[in-house]
Amino acid sequence: MSGGETIETSGGDTIDERWLRVRARCRDTLGNRTFERWIESISLESADESRVTMAAPTRFLRDWVAPRYGDRLRGLWRAEIPTVQTVDFIVRPALPAAAADAAASDAGAIGVDDEFGDGLHCVYDFENFVVGKPNEFAHAAARGVAEAEDPPYNPLYIYGDVGLGKTHLLHAIGLRYRALRPDRRAVYLSAEKFMNEFVRALRLERITAFKERLRSVDLLMIDDVQFIGGKHATQEEFFHTFNAMVDRRRQVVVAGNSVPADLERLTEPIRSRLSWGLVAQVHETNYELRVGILQARVERMGAVSRVPDKVVEFLARKMVSSIRELEGALTTLVARATLTGARIDLEFCQDALRDILRSHASDVTVEGIQKRVAEYYGVRVSDMCSARRQKVIVRPRHVAMFLAKELTPRSYPEIGRKFGNRDHTTVMNAVRRIDKARRADPAFAEEVDMLRRVIEA
Ligand code: ADP
Ligand code: MG
Repeated sequence: MSGGETIETSGGDTIDERWLRVRARCRDTLGNRTFERWIESISLESADESRVTMAAPTRFLRDWVAPRYGDRLRGLWRAEIPTVQTVDFIVRPALPAAAADAAASDAGAIGVDDEFGDGLHCVYDFENFVVGKPNEFAHAAARGVAEAEDPPYNPLYIYGDVGLGKTHLLHAIGLRYRALRPDRRAVYLSAEKFMNEFVRALRLERITAFKERLRSVDLLMIDDVQFIGGKHATQEEFFHTFNAMVDRRRQVVVAGNSVPADLERLTEPIRSRLSWGLVAQVHETNYELRVGILQARVERMGAVSRVPDKVVEFLARKMVSSIRELEGALTTLVARATLTGARIDLEFCQDALRDILRSHASDVTVEGIQKRVAEYYGVRVSDMCSARRQKVIVRPRHVAMFLAKELTPRSYPEIGRKFGNRDHTTVMNAVRRIDKARRADPAFAEEVDMLRRVIEA
C-alpha cells in the first residue's frame, strides 16, 4: 500500500492478507484468463472500515474494470470486512521499480498449505512436450538442467507470453530430475504460493523454519516470477533464498513473462540476478508447432480416428494465440462430438467452435477497430476517416491503422481504403510512428496494448 503501512483490521489479519484472499477468490470466480487480463494489475490503495480504494494503472483499465467487476470486488471485500460500504477505483500509474517496496503487497494467492509438496504435475513431462522452432532452445536448456550432473547454468530463466509452455517446461524439469535422482528434492512453487507461504510464516513466527525448508531443496522452480512484487520483505526473502541456493550450487529455475530487465515489480538486484545464468525465450507458436501439438493431443485422447487432418489444420490456422486455447478448442470439440454423437468434420468444427473463433483475429474487422478506438479517444469514426489533421484526430487514426494492421489480415492498401481512401504509404507511416511511440513511452504502449485486448476480447 502507498505509505507502506499495514492497516490492522478487526479480525486480526492484516489488510494485505485480506487483499491476497480477495484476489485469490476473484481469480477463482473469474478464471485465470479474465483475472490476468483485467484484475491482475489492480492494486490496493487504501482501506478502512467502510471504504476500500483500489488503484488501476491506467484510466482505461479503471473504466473497464469498475463497471464490470466493481460489484464483485465489493462482495469479496465484504466477506473480509463486513462493514465495507464502498469499493472505489482510482488511477495510479504503475510504480517504477525503485518505489516498488512502498507499493501494495499485490500478490494473488492460491491454496495455502503448510508443507511444500513437490507441486509437480505428471502430465507436464518432457514426453508430452512437443518441440518446434519456437521452443527448441528453451526445451534444450530445460533438458540440460534436468539431466546434467552439475548445474550447467544457474539460474535458468525461461520467459515468454502466457500459454506458450513455460509452466509445462518447469514441471518437466522437475519430473525428469526426480526420476534421475530419487534421493534429491525438487520443488515447484508458483510465485503466489511462495509469497503466501512467506506471509504465513511471518505471521506464525515460523520464518526460520520456512527458510530452512526452502534451502534444503536441491532444485527449486519458481513460476510466474513477475507476480513477486510489493512488500519489500518478500522480495528480499526471495532474493536471499535465490542467492543461498545458487551459492550452494543448488539449481534454480525461474519462469516469467518478460526479459528480466522488464520485470517492473521486482527490485533491480533480483532482475540482474535472474540474467546471470541462461535466459531462454519460448516464442509465439508457428503453424507447424500447433499442428504437432494438436496431433499429439489427439493421440493422447485416443481420438485419432475421429479427428481428421483437415480439422487439425483448421484449428492450427485459426487458433493462433496460446497453446492453452488451442488445446481448449480441441477438447471442446471432442467433448461435444462425444455427447451428441456427431462426426467431427469441418462443418461441425466451425459450428462447435463458433464462440471461440469469433473472438479470434480472423473476426476482428477494421470497422470494429475504428469504432473501439474512436470510442476510447472520444472522437467520431467519420472524423478518423476524414481529411482532418488536428492532433486529437491524427493520433486515434494512427492507432486504429496500427491495430488494423496488427489484428486483421488486411493489407496496407486495403486498410488505407477503409480510412477515407488514403494511400498505402500513409498507413505504413502510421504503423511505423505508433511503433516508435510505443517504444519511447511505456504508458502509451500500455494504452495500445489495452485497446488491443479489448478489441480481441
Ligand atoms: P505458460 O506457463 O507459458 O503460460 P503452460 O505451460 O501452462 O503455459 O502451457 C499451456 C498449455 O499448453 C498446457 O496445457 C501445456 O501442457 C500446453 N503446452 C504448451 N506448450 C506445449 C508443447 N510444446 N507441447 C505440448 N503441450 C504444450
Ligand atoms: Mg504458466
